Amino acid sequence: MLGFTPAVRLSLGLVILTISILILAQAIGLAPGAERQQLEVRKRLAETLASQVSVAIMRGDELLLQYLLESSVERNPEILSVAVRRNDGVIVAQTKLHSKNWAKAKANESTPTHIRFPIMLNGAKRAEFELSFEPLLSDSHPIFKLPTFILLVIFVSLSGFVGYWFYIKRALKHLDPSAVVPARVRNALNILAEGVLILDRREQIVLANNSMIEHLQRTEQSLMGKKASSLGWFLDPKQEAREYPWLKAIGSGVKQTGVRVLLPDASNSDKDTIFQVNAVPILDPKGASQGTIAVFEDITELETKSRLLEEMIQQLAATQVAIENKNKELTFLATRDPLTNCYNRRALYEHLSSKFDGARTTDAEFSCIMADIDFFKKVNDTYGHAAGDEVIKMAANSLREVVRDMDMVARFGGEEYCVILPGAPLEQAQMIAERCRQKIEEKVTNGIKVTGSFGVTSIRMGAVTANQLIQQADEALYYSKQHGRNQVTCWQPDMKTIITDTQHH
Ligand code: GH3
Ligand code: MG
Ligand code: MG
Repeated sequence: MLGFTPAVRLSLGLVILTISILILAQAIGLAPGAERQQLEVRKRLAETLASQVSVAIMRGDELLLQYLLESSVERNPEILSVAVRRNDGVIVAQTKLHSKNWAKAKANESTPTHIRFPIMLNGAKRAEFELSFEPLLSDSHPIFKLPTFILLVIFVSLSGFVGYWFYIKRALKHLDPSAVVPARVRNALNILAEGVLILDRREQIVLANNSMIEHLQRTEQSLMGKKASSLGWFLDPKQEAREYPWLKAIGSGVKQTGVRVLLPDASNSDKDTIFQVNAVPILDPKGASQGTIAVFEDITELETKSRLLEEMIQQLAATQVAIENKNKELTFLATRDPLTNCYNRRALYEHLSSKFDGARTTDAEFSCIMADIDFFKKVNDTYGHAAGDEVIKMAANSLREVVRDMDMVARFGGEEYCVILPGAPLEQAQMIAERCRQKIEEKVTNGIKVTGSFGVTSIRMGAVTANQLIQQADEALYYSKQHGRNQVTCWQPDMKTIITDTQHH
């Protein structure tokens, strides 16, 4: 019985009840049996015939009497034979085979097959009218060959079931299906801010809580029995789910979570309500799905906010890029000398100390060049400060043109430069310095020609700190100045004494 729908179960129950009533009625003799009716009809027929027969007897018309008897048998196929028997037992008139038919009759008693009727003349019984009938149809049906009562029961069972089933199905539709849910549960569901739909296995709505009714803007009455999918919503195309979660929960018997369903607003498409739907299947004890409870969380506001947040994050990202660019600019400005675009002194030291320490630990080559324009004060004095600036730029460019990509050119002071050359041995640094000296010597800036003096050293010369390295390069530069300028000098350990001897820097 478990697999049947309620309508089928109720119909079966009603059929069983009806049959019980029929059987009870039959048992206490209330059933208006076909035999009883048949007997009634036979008695009435016998009565009518008897009154005609008494007329013939009264007249003493034997011919008429015989005719009446013959014709009553002919006209009524149920009647096998008839006779009139005098009180003394002598038969006055009879049709064929009556004595044979009458042999089974009970004495002084009418039965359904043998009916006697008294013929009265002047208030006294003169004779008896005997009718022998075909056996009653009661015992078995002429076509189905089954007892009629059993046939009746079968008929009532079948027709009753079909009739009750249709009736109950209709009745159930008109009944409030949500009445199945106890008021306590209903009240609890109505408190929820989320919309709740309870659906049967045909996804017809059995219950909608207040919040759901409000969202759908329909009456509770109009929702009952309606298929949940027919309420005009659609799946959010921006997600994987391709089936309404309640259908999937009913179909698969597996809980569905976080499916976004949109309910369009007829007047304004921007005002679509966005629901996040969870659907839990309702399973019977055998684990078959009987429906689902679907919970609708309105996430419209949340979605709007998250969209806003997304936009803000995008803006922030754009800002971040702008900030990064600005930072790069700032770093450039902070590390460069504005006149020459060379690294400034601070950047030089920052870079130098780490590179120098790195070279020391890996025992790599590392060289340094110091350069200074000769007699620059004269340039300023003769051509002016602006012209001097151009010369400073020219010298910086000359250095940059000559050095390698990994080398770093910094403006160390007014017209003094420092170049660091990671990985370059002393000889290479010396060569670079020499090329640079030539370049400066060759160039003419606004008609001005200058020369430069250079000092070169390398980490191989024994400097332990970056400062020592610069010191050595500076000493070598000083040596160049002291020995005629416009030349390149490599540092040597005994230079200091020479310098101190002729010190006037
Ligand atoms: P020496 O050959 O011994 O180097 O002689 P010098 O005249 O070049 O002497 P020194 O290097 O000491 O002179 C540096 C001068 O450079 C002093 C200063 O007036 C000038 N100076 C410093 N910074 C700037 C600058 O940014 N622009 C200009 N035009 N001149 C500067
Ligand atoms: Mg100078
Ligand atoms: Mg100088």
